[in-house]
Amino acid sequence: MIAQSKQTAFIKDIYEADNITLITHVNPDGDALGASLALFHFLQKQNKNVRVIVPNHVPEFLQWMPGFDQIIIFEFQQEEAKQYVKNSDLIVLLDFSALNRIEPLDDLIREINIKSILIDHHPFFESFPDMTISNAKVSSTAELIYELLAPIDKNALDTDIAISIYTGIMTDTVDFRYNVRQRTFQILADLLNYNIDIEAIHSNVYDKFSENRMNLLGYCLHQKLIVLPKYKTAYITITKDELKQFSFMPGDSEGFVNYPLSIKNITFSALFIEEEQFIKISFRSKGDFAVNKFADRYFNGGGHKNAAGGLSYNSLNETIEKFTSLLPYYETNMNFIN
Ligand code: 5GP
Ligand code: MN
Repeated sequence: MIAQSKQTAFIKDIYEADNITLITHVNPDGDALGASLALFHFLQKQNKNVRVIVPNHVPEFLQWMPGFDQIIIFEFQQEEAKQYVKNSDLIVLLDFSALNRIEPLDDLIREINIKSILIDHHPFFESFPDMTISNAKVSSTAELIYELLAPIDKNALDTDIAISIYTGIMTDTVDFRYNVRQRTFQILADLLNYNIDIEAIHSNVYDKFSENRMNLLGYCLHQKLIVLPKYKTAYITITKDELKQFSFMPGDSEGFVNYPLSIKNITFSALFIEEEQFIKISFRSKGDFAVNKFADRYFNGGGHKNAAGGLSYNSLNETIEKFTSLLPYYETNMNFIN
């Protein structure tokens, strides 16, 4: 899955560098953190001076991850983050394929002249790093980290690294449901050699939600779900007032967009959240309909074929009008953008 020459070049680059910064995308998810923290733990064992920087808040359901307390959050620690980046000999960018995914850190990365490596599993659009290790066929960036590190030697991995990689694969595949290949399960089987507590990982991620979050989910499914059987589409909207009403915390809406897809015959699902500056949109699909292209074409976004996101700078109503007005075109042609 990774060319031998790239793996060799990657190992050479990380062994040659002393100060390494790992950067992952805005609203970091389980794979962004899993991949970054796995590499972080490995580099710490090699006595490297290493830090993970994320643009903004880490949701509470991921704050248990080993190494979370050493992450620099740019939103709250700008000076420290800038110093770290500027003093680096190597920057590794993980789990994104366009620099606007790390705003407002993107300007800093464009300005500096430091060797950079991108490790990612999105279809690749923007060419900015010195080396790209990218494969859209693998389940997660965490899986690529395994492929890079495991061949080094039999002591390369340890419990913290295995927990991080497992969490990345688990969350990005929605519990081993999407994008899993035989190789993915081989990797998972190997991770069990490192004394990881699978039940604890699942429980840490899925059983620590707040009561507010459960109430918001119930409210959305009962009051806010719009099902359009003709278009095999269902969507949910959440307004600013509703966010306030349920004391919304970042991460609370994680997974909401998957629910409509469990309705019979629904193959396209969307979630619209009214934030201060824009409407944050999530798209999910089943089958051939490429929601990353839909998001790119109409909603300033991108992502994977069956899981993507985007932004709208119009009002919530206008955004929904635009969205629903596009559906008749896709009715007869749900797979026209592959
Ligand atoms: P989510 O719906 O969970 O926020 O995002 C699903 C996937 O879509 C993410 O893994 C990410 O790849 C992609 N994604 C989400 N929001 C954006 C966006 O604004 N721009 C781009 N290019 N990709 C996004
Ligand atoms: Mn990912």
